Amino acid sequence: GTEEKADETANFDIGLQDVGDGTSVTTRFPPEPSGYLHIGHAKAALLNDYFAHEKYKGTLLLRFDDTNPLKEKQEYQDAIIEDLALMGIKADKTSYTSDYFQELYDYCVRMIKDGNAYADDTLQDKMRQERMDGIASARRDSRVEDNLARFEEMKTGSAEGIKWCIRAKISVDDPNKAMRDPVIYRCSPEVHHRTGDKWKIYPTYDFCCPIIDAYEGVTHALRTTEYNDRDAQYQWILKALNLRHVYNWGFARMNFIKTVLSKRKLTRIVDTKKVWGWDDPRMPTIRGVRRRGMTVPALREFILKQGPSKNIVNLDWTTFWATNKKHIDPIAARYTAIAEEAKVPVTIIGAREGVITEEKDKHAKYTNLGKKKVLFSKDVLIEQVDAASFAQDEEITLMNWGNAIVRKISHSINPLAKPSGLKTVTGLELELHLQGDVKKTSKKVTWLSADQNLVPVELVDFDYLITKDKLEDGDELEDFLTKQTEFRIKAVADCNVAELEVDDIIQFDRKGYFRIDKAFAHGELAVAFQIPTGKSGVTR
Ligand code: ATP
Ligand code: MG
Ligand code: MG
Repeated sequence: GTEEKADETANFDIGLQDVGDGTSVTTRFPPEPSGYLHIGHAKAALLNDYFAHEKYKGTLLLRFDDTNPLKEKQEYQDAIIEDLALMGIKADKTSYTSDYFQELYDYCVRMIKDGNAYADDTLQDKMRQERMDGIASARRDSRVEDNLARFEEMKTGSAEGIKWCIRAKISVDDPNKAMRDPVIYRCSPEVHHRTGDKWKIYPTYDFCCPIIDAYEGVTHALRTTEYNDRDAQYQWILKALNLRHVYNWGFARMNFIKTVLSKRKLTRIVDTKKVWGWDDPRMPTIRGVRRRGMTVPALREFILKQGPSKNIVNLDWTTFWATNKKHIDPIAARYTAIAEEAKVPVTIIGAREGVITEEKDKHAKYTNLGKKKVLFSKDVLIEQVDAASFAQDEEITLMNWGNAIVRKISHSINPLAKPSGLKTVTGLELELHLQGDVKKTSKKVTWLSADQNLVPVELVDFDYLITKDKLEDGDELEDFLTKQTEFRIKAVADCNVAELEVDDIIQFDRKGYFRIDKAFAHGELAVAFQIPTGKSGVTR
């Protein structure tokens, strides 16, 4: 509830300077439209939304950081807008870095004119080495006129222009390497998805960020702590251009074990068809985890609980799914499914003649979930694992029915079974013993009347895509992909399951929580994805 939420975030502030009455606080979420949002992005988006809209009566900006036309697509941009809406995040204004290409260009000219930037054609590897070693570029002290002329050449996208970039003239050998003359403009004659072929030069993130933040009235720029070293550079650019002050505030990047949260790697997984798409339930995208059965309130709760910590930890999925379980348990109606290959026919002695239909609560505790039909008859099905555990004359409980005593067990010896000689139960006779105490039995067994329109359903479970807890620099993604990540079982379910719709979250008794991914229709089977609950620390 809201009380809980307030608790989680009680000590949670941007340490805001100059907040005033809070109405001036402006934050921004600046995704690059180069992939679908993942749960790391969800953290950034939710934190910005939290400070702008919950903690203060301020403003949230959404800014598409679209400066690399090679990686960006309209499809991604549309998906980002949809996913934010899905999370209940509504930006007060939406803009694009590309809206400011003219202004950014003008600011760059000004930097050059002020002697704060220069054109450089040092080869990429050499430039990297020089920056490492604290050696000045041969072009560092070029004349302003020459720098301007080269920038104009870059603007045409010519063969000569492509050789050049513009660098801020900050420092050659500052101990903070981010201060060693960072590149602020590159020549790239690619067609941009919004500005077409108008521009052949593109500003770098380091240059755009402080300028547009100041320009749009951002008061607090929240960034992951990997950017801490670049805060000095950000502040330097604000000063050099005499722009309004913006505070930087760092928060921990969110990482999960056995999971990659890099759009580059996720794109590779999608492109090489290791998954069905960006919304595959194995993907750590917002769409992926939702398709796996994560709910939005649980996602919000989980992320805001991480709070303002600056420690980068490799989170376990256990608490992620355990948080979700709290949210889905009260909404998950309960049904019964029995594995198709493992179903054992049972004759119930003492059952009333014919088929009796009763209305029962879909959940014994949460009666607001409505009623379902439970069919009782003499012929029922139970699962092999249950049947195989029964002893002659043992008293067991048939869930939602009552106790019964095992009267007859028919076996066959399965010659293929290991260890050899393992028996398969081929049939059972159970005698109802309804006066027996259900609290005294140790076996509570799910069953289905065979005399109903059983619904075929495929139960699908998934494993992590990655075999290693944390990929290190130099690890090849392809060397650490799990071979089999999808596990399918055919089952039959009670007749009520025919009415379930896509996205319904349910529980199959003793099998766990599932999200319906495909509804039963025209004789085609329903598909249900197992929702992890975090119990054992693995997703399966
Ligand atoms: P990726 O490496 O996946 O491409 P990115 O940082 O380049 O991530 P952006 O679209 O630029 O992707 O990110 C938008 C915002 O989300 C940024 O503010 C970024 O810091 C934040 N962000 C990205 N990944 C994470 C993460 N794992 N945890 C927290 N915030 C993140
Ligand atoms: Mg980025
Ligand atoms: Mg990145």
